[in-house]
Amino acid sequence: MIQLHDKFFKPYLSEAQILNAVEKMALAIAEDYKDEVPLFVGVLNGSFMFVSDFLKAYPYPCEVSFVKLSSYQGLTSTGIVETLLDVSEDIAGKSVIILEDIIDTGRTLQQLVHLFSNTNVKEFKIASLFYKSEIYNGEYAIDYFGMDIPNNFIVGYGLDYNELGRNLREVYTLNQTDMINLVL
Ligand code: 5GP
Repeated sequence: MIQLHDKFFKPYLSEAQILNAVEKMALAIAEDYKDEVPLFVGVLNGSFMFVSDFLKAYPYPCEVSFVKLSSYQGLTSTGIVETLLDVSEDIAGKSVIILEDIIDTGRTLQQLVHLFSNTNVKEFKIASLFYKSEIYNGEYAIDYFGMDIPNNFIVGYGLDYNELGRNLREVYTLNQTDMINLVL
């Protein structure tokens, strides 16, 4: 069990389980894109560890870039209010594959789809390491995902709880027993 700020988290996925899922994703995508040079676009901040391991497992030539979505958490219901996108590089005619850490409701994804909708990319695909399919309510079908996980808050492997926990090699989940004790 670990503590981050005021909350306790228990081990959920080992480093080996995560790396296995990342490698499988990289090889599945490689199979589909082996005849071209795709551009992978990581979504900061949460995807930095995933992107690093994904690229190390990707066996063919590829390009990489990043976008950063920032939000006023807790102040708006929609969350995402600002997008910092560096598309100064030439993305025209390229196959763009977004690398997301986690897809939850799909609001972030909606923003990304909107961002790339006015560009003349050849193809636009979404790959997310974690996917909470039970609460996803977006229109866009997720092209690739590593693990379909239940609707519990997780930290580690790039994902944070109020900026802590990103450096953990494993993934932890909120300790529900602790939550129940807090409520009682
Ligand atoms: P969505 O826009 O799909 O609802 O949520 C996506 C974003 O919310 C992710 O990029 C991530 O920043 C955050 N998020 C969603 N679920 C979790 C979670 O279980 N743990 C953490 N740390 N962040 C999450």
